[in-house]
Amino acid sequence: MPTPTCLACGRTQSEVPLITLSYQDRSFLICPQHLPVLIHNPQALVGKLPGAEGMAAAEHED
Ligand SMILES: [Zn+2]
Repeated sequence: MPTPTCLACGRTQSEVPLITLSYQDRSFLICPQHLPVLIHNPQALVGKLPGAEGMAAAEHED
């Protein structure tokens, strides 16, 4: 079984806390440092997270 790593930076859960994402019947892991990337700039994860190119960035209303 491969070592669980952040999909963005590849760090393991021995280095950083990892948050599990459930998406399209699969599970992905991301560290807190890269969670904002997923929220605000998901296009940056194209090629790392399947379907990221179709995700819309969260809009700020402020
Ligand atoms: Zn990361």
